[in-house]
This record gives sequence, structure tokens and C-alpha cells, in this order.
Amino acid sequence: MADELITISRDGTEIGKFLESDLMMLIEQKKVLPTDHYWKEGMAEWGLVSQFIALRKEAARQVKAAADAEAARLKKEEAATRLKKEAEEIERARKAEAEIADAVKARVERQTFTCNCCRWRFLKPKNPNDNFTGGVVLCFLGAALMFIPVLGPIIGSVVIIWGSLTVLVSGLYPPHCPSCRSTNFSRQEGSDKRLFPD
Ligand SMILES: [Zn+2]
Repeated sequence: MADELITISRDGTEIGKFLESDLMMLIEQKKVLPTDHYWKEGMAEWGLVSQFIALRKEAARQVKAAADAEAARLKKEEAATRLKKEAEEIERARKAEAEIADAVKARVERQTFTCNCCRWRFLKPKNPNDNFTGGVVLCFLGAALMFIPVLGPIIGSVVIIWGSLTVLVSGLYPPHCPSCRSTNFSRQEGSDKRLFPD
């Protein structure tokens, strides 16, 4: 706002020219009265100083309203930015969590077998071949039991039969799913290739 020179008159007599910026102070000090008249360049006729006061107050009110609106807008914008940032952080945390879960799942899948028939997941297929050594040991144990008097030959022969059957059966079945005995199972590494073809 340009600081214009304002002419003040009282009862038809000019009492002075003041800068617009000084005028409000002079009004407060009662050196210029609301009943005085004022005129500045561009005005068609003289106006009452009370009108000047009202105009100044209205202008000040408008400036303040504009400033308040701007402050409110900034505050709203700030809140929106903060909310957006928080949402992004939550999303980042969620993604990291999902990545960890995926990594754990992938590792579990790499370490386990999955049956292609019953979808059972197991660490190790059941392998009857593992019983071979046990069967042989049982046979020797049975032979040793034979030397015990009276009951020895009976218990010994039962143990030898048990051991022999274990040895025989160990060669009958290939490794299989512990749940459904299917031999169709695989490790989950993108390949459906059977580990032990039958
Ligand atoms: Zn199975």
C-alpha cells in the first residue's frame, strides 16, 4: 500500500497533511477527530475521518482473514503430508514383514519334501532301506540268544525271523511319503522331478 499524503480539515479549515501510515496514530491521540474531514488524491470529494477509520479497520480485517486462511491451509497441508508419510512408513514395514515371511517360507520349502499325492510336507521320506542294518543286527542278536538255555532258542529264532523279514522288506519299497506311502514327492524348487523314480 502506497503511503499517501492525506489532507485533514476541521470545520472547513485545512489543519494539515499527514502520511496515511501516521494518521491512525494521530486519530488515537485525538489530534485528528472522527468528525474531521479527509481528502487524498483520487477522491472526488471529502470524506469523514470516521469513514476512513472504518475502511482501515475493514482492510486490516481482510488482511488478517487472508493470513488466517493461509495459515489454516498450510496446517492442513502439513497434516496431509504427515499422514501420507505415516501411511508410507506403515506400507514399508508391511512390505519388509512380507519379505521376511516369504524368505522363511522359501527356506522351509527348500528344506522339505512335498508329497504330490496328499500334499503332506515332510523333512525326510520314509526309506525302508534304513532298516537294513537294523535287520542284520537283529539276526546276529537272535543267533546270540540261541546260546541261552531253555528259552534261548525260542526267543532267538523269533528275533532271527523278525530280523530276516526286516532285511527282506527293506528292499521291497522305495522311499515314500510317510503319510500315504506314495513315491511321488519332490522338493519345491520349481521342479516336479521325482527324487526317487519308481
Ligand atoms: Zn503322501
